[in-house]
Amino acid sequence: MDLLEYQGKQLFAEHGVPVPQGRHATTPKEARAAAEELGFPVVIKAQVQIGGRGKAGGIKLAKDADEAETHAEAIIGMDIRGLTVQEIWVEQASDIATEYYGAVVFDRSARKPLVMLSAEGGMDIEAVPEEKIARLHVDPLVGFLPFHGRRLAFEAAIDADVIRPVGAMLAKLYDLFVAADAMLVEVNPLIVTGDRQVVALDAKVTVDDNALMRQPAVAEMRNPSAEDPQEQMAKERGVTYVKLDGEVGILGNGAGLVMSTLDVVAQAGGRPANFLDVGGGAKAEEIVAALEVLLSDAKVKAVLFNIFGGITRCDEVARGILQALEQIDVQVPIVVRLDGTNDQEGRRILADADASQLHTAKTMLEAADMVVALAREGAAA
Ligand code: GDP
Ligand code: MN
Repeated sequence: MDLLEYQGKQLFAEHGVPVPQGRHATTPKEARAAAEELGFPVVIKAQVQIGGRGKAGGIKLAKDADEAETHAEAIIGMDIRGLTVQEIWVEQASDIATEYYGAVVFDRSARKPLVMLSAEGGMDIEAVPEEKIARLHVDPLVGFLPFHGRRLAFEAAIDADVIRPVGAMLAKLYDLFVAADAMLVEVNPLIVTGDRQVVALDAKVTVDDNALMRQPAVAEMRNPSAEDPQEQMAKERGVTYVKLDGEVGILGNGAGLVMSTLDVVAQAGGRPANFLDVGGGAKAEEIVAALEVLLSDAKVKAVLFNIFGGITRCDEVARGILQALEQIDVQVPIVVRLDGTNDQEGRRILADADASQLHTAKTMLEAADMVVALAREGAAA
């Protein structure tokens, strides 16, 4: 789960990481009031889960209340690479002397958190040459120690007078990273002000979704409006869902099977629209939930239901599908491939049901050819 800048800064403040004073706003009037409270100049910042807001015009400096209101009006509703700005953050402007980059990321291959520091901050970190980024893996059992901060600071060649406060900030960011079950904590830019204060001017925090159950305060920060509606729906229903760009909806039991179904559909000339792993689920409620998520994507012209019966029995899945079709109105054709435990009986149950939108197939390839043809017909209609 990605946090918005202001939510990240809230965590920063709680962990003693210096951040500028700011207020949240959703209307130009609120922004004006917030700015007057904070004192001028202020910076109006679009709150969207995407970087490069500065370049996109989503960050503006205001020297008085009128300007704050005008800028807020321009930024709210703005489209930044596909995301509509609905919230803004009004912040006391900082006097920037230098921009650095600091981050803690989870390095899966090393199985350790990796702390990074660079004197080349402000810009896109991908554009910074490798050798300009100091890196240090932290042993999670030992933690981040003061000498780690000093080593990174020397290696990154930051200004000598701020080595201590920058090291201290990295230590606090590391503490936050651990405490919040984060996968990423990134500060770009990490600034030094004219009077040599070290401040986090931007915040990007990603929290491990699997840890949200023990991070209730962070889970509360989830912003439903900023998320893809289908993904949000899937999350609420506890199914694994990935949205894609085509017209064939794919549903299967087991991640491996679902992934290979994607390949087979692509091989048959189709484009998957999304895929959903229902796990071992064969119950009608689970199938209803899954179909509702898949079909809420208007692009879906046909659905492929690919089930390999192991512990899950195909006859149960077939009954589940029929019950689901009684509960929801499905307009698009559904191809069901049943293979494995009780597959013959499963196919017989579906055939006997005589539901016009149901088609059955015995093999994955046959099912894929069928669903691709049906999706084409649907798209042409
Ligand atoms: P991003 O573009 O989405 O990464 O947003 P940032 O929060 O990193 O801001 C982008 C740039 O805007 C920064 O690198 C600064 O150069 C500038 N900026 C942001 N806040 C301030 C501020 O308070 N004062 C000044 N002078 N510049 C700012
Ligand atoms: Mn930034």
